[in-house]
Amino acid sequence: MRDKYDVVIVGAGLSGMYQLIKLRELGMNIRVLEMGSDVGGTWYWNRYPGARFDSESYSYGMSFSKELLQEWEWSEHFSAQPETLRYCGFISEKFDLSRDIEFNTRVTGAHYEEARNIWQVITEDKIYECRFLITAVGVFSVPTWPEIEGINDFQGEAWHTARWPHHPVDFFGKRVAVIGTGATGVQVIPEVAKTAGTLTVFQRRPNYCLPLGNRPITEEEQADIKGRYDEIFAQCASTTGSFLHGSDPRSALSVSDEEREATFGRLYNMPGFALWLGNFRDCGTDQEANDFVSEFVRRKISERVNDLELAEKLIPLDHGFGTRRVPMESGYYEVYNKDNVRLIDLMATPFQRITKAGIETTGENFDFDLIIYATGFDAIVGSFRNMDIQGRKGAKLKDYWEDGPVTYLGVQVPGFPNLLTLVGPQNASTFCNIPRCIEQNVEWVSDLMAHMMAQGYERVEAAQTAAEAWVEHSEQMVAMTLIPNTDSWFMNVNQNLPEKKRTFLAYAGGAPRYKQKCDEVSAAGYTGFDFA
Ligand code: NAP
Repeated sequence: MRDKYDVVIVGAGLSGMYQLIKLRELGMNIRVLEMGSDVGGTWYWNRYPGARFDSESYSYGMSFSKELLQEWEWSEHFSAQPETLRYCGFISEKFDLSRDIEFNTRVTGAHYEEARNIWQVITEDKIYECRFLITAVGVFSVPTWPEIEGINDFQGEAWHTARWPHHPVDFFGKRVAVIGTGATGVQVIPEVAKTAGTLTVFQRRPNYCLPLGNRPITEEEQADIKGRYDEIFAQCASTTGSFLHGSDPRSALSVSDEEREATFGRLYNMPGFALWLGNFRDCGTDQEANDFVSEFVRRKISERVNDLELAEKLIPLDHGFGTRRVPMESGYYEVYNKDNVRLIDLMATPFQRITKAGIETTGENFDFDLIIYATGFDAIVGSFRNMDIQGRKGAKLKDYWEDGPVTYLGVQVPGFPNLLTLVGPQNASTFCNIPRCIEQNVEWVSDLMAHMMAQGYERVEAAQTAAEAWVEHSEQMVAMTLIPNTDSWFMNVNQNLPEKKRTFLAYAGGAPRYKQKCDEVSAAGYTGFDFA
């Protein structure tokens, strides 16, 4: 006997949890399948020291329940991972979610059976049947390890930040290596440097990192935040990235040098993504404007690192500020002023191999007790590639997406009826303050379900033409930015994986435009979707 449900949701992170809450309201019979042993998704897996929000905590929390907003208190402006994981648990308990979630359950595939209009969802233990399959698999769920010869030979301790153990890892007095200086690397590095005997950071391409500006939330601020949630979320809804930081309508080229410099300085000293997202409107779209801000951040980096030669290695010259994800840091650059910390520039001396005792580069051999891989993810599409998803006539999703994802509104795929992809590729969620867009996505999908129930429909499928138009629109949006000028996960580039088509994976038109497009489609009776 197979377990039968109206809906199977894959993943119990924030999107899966909220989707469960919303679909329960429709009286649907739902099962959530979660690989981890608890809720929390990204906050469950990424429990490395230093992991914390880059979004202001009160702009990140879920807004759908006023009661939840009043009951939960963030202790810091940028909450650390343990608190955020507790928050996810708090939501689960408050809404009694775990009775519908199966933990430690990895979905390996899902096959659509056309004759019965059902999905068979395959896990390691059993097969579930459902009418609707909703993926809530997150953006960064498939970690990637570097392709270095001998990676399994190392006999010391080794952890990927996204598969960090549930027990504490002791760095005290140890010889520690960190590989990777992305958003994760720059969070973990200062934490390790506090107690490690020696810390050696292996950097390939440097990034433009900004000070996070975290601090505790005072009692007065707590009261103020709780009284202003409507205003906070309205502000988020008005900005491109659904953050508190909306761009300055002026062009960086329209102001004097003094004014521009003063603006950059003010934004640099503000907490969070202010300099990236609250800057002159053309810093992300016009090369000349971008050159100004890139040069400003380069100067800031060199001011914070005592050794000028070392500072030069930390300064990016190969891309412009904000064209890759900007890592947020707390004392990252100052770490390199400590005697026990070294930076190895892999551009000058690349890896040769990993050995039993440590790491060999073309310049030097290193012995380590512990290697930390902060080497990133098969972003956005990795989870879809890892599952054998088959639609009509056994067509495989990974083949259909071989040349890049094809979706309609980032939530549906032609040829894969009743499959809905929350926070999927070409969806604004993957490029914004995620919970804000999760709420939009989940509510829109729930309205679609309600519409189908009201109309007596049992199948929904995006039309090929609608999807092609969406892909074209997405490409037009990103082409207006400087993002395609450099390699990053934004552009589907991960050198630890077989080469994939260089294509933008998210939606660069901004969350308000995305929401407007979704709302127009639903208001017009779900144009671009075929129902049966
Ligand atoms: P990432 O941005 O992809 O960075 C991976 C790092 O590892 C890069 O420095 C990369 O160098 C390096 N690397 C990868 N393979 C390597 C190899 N074979 N040899 C040498 N170096 C190698 O991954 P991430 O830092 O985990 O961040 C991923 C995303 O997660 C972020 O962009 C962000 O959206 C999200 N994140 C969010 C938060 C937050 O909100 N607080 C925190 C952490 C992460 P190259 O640059 O040269 O490839």
